[in-house]
Amino acid sequence: KIKPRPKAEPQKLLPEVKNIVAVASGKGGVGKSTVTSNLAVALAKAGYSVGLLDADIFGPSVPKMFKTEEDRPLLDKIDGRDRIIPVEKYGVKMLSIGYFVNPKDATIWRGAMATNAIKQLITEGNWGALDYLLIDLPPGTSDIHLTMVQTLAISGAIIVTTPQDVALADAIKGVSMFKSKNINVPILGLVENMAWFTPAELPDNKYYIFGKDGGKNLAEELEVPLLGQIPIVQSIREGGDHGEPAALNQDSVTGNAFADMATRVV
Ligand code: ADP
Repeated sequence: KIKPRPKAEPQKLLPEVKNIVAVASGKGGVGKSTVTSNLAVALAKAGYSVGLLDADIFGPSVPKMFKTEEDRPLLDKIDGRDRIIPVEKYGVKMLSIGYFVNPKDATIWRGAMATNAIKQLITEGNWGALDYLLIDLPPGTSDIHLTMVQTLAISGAIIVTTPQDVALADAIKGVSMFKSKNINVPILGLVENMAWFTPAELPDNKYYIFGKDGGKNLAEELEVPLLGQIPIVQSIREGGDHGEPAALNQDSVTGNAFADMATRVV
């Protein structure tokens, strides 16, 4: 459960945002952006006002996962200030560096340029009043992570991992970064993604391709909540590629799994 954000420091950017939640993973490719996108949609469907900042600056996936690659945020002057109006879809307000660069070009930026770009999306983004702003962080522990925790009063962090040892080892690093004394961001919980696979023709079988309960056991070991175990499901991958997050369909098992996850976060 999210505790109220610290009132005074760090400097209070985005005062109208009630909860800022960072989503991180140690390793790349574990489904961090998939989980973030689906959680954002599930929260919006539950009636919350939701923003999603894609801070995965070198591999921004949010525009594609919401099928908004062709969209360009409007630039406007509001009360004498330059503002970037977020793109909105499925009830989620989004900003991503992906909206400003050609998707075919590699983003070759030094650390400072990347962090400045992200800062600009935060400070100039016209986010307005939000219940939740989710931040899709780059994988690993980088400059961007430090900038985020230093510039924003982050309410909590969610760590996404797959169940195999190499991913878990990196998830542990992620958790310890947020728990470290100078960062000190509460861990809201761990999500075990790609937890098993069930073929359509064998609906009672679960194949633990990446190992069984790796994320669940790690959550117990680290004494952090387990926010969900999400299986490998073709429709989740298709939803990501086609810009229709699985969480939109709450009659499906997968849609439901993300709806459940949302109830554990609020
Ligand atoms: P990350 O943000 O950690 O790099 P992504 O969210 O981009 O990872 O996911 C990597 C790929 O795996 C994407 O193609 C995505 O659709 C797919 N994927 C993620 N989670 C699942 C899942 N539970 N079932 C099926 N495919 C998944």
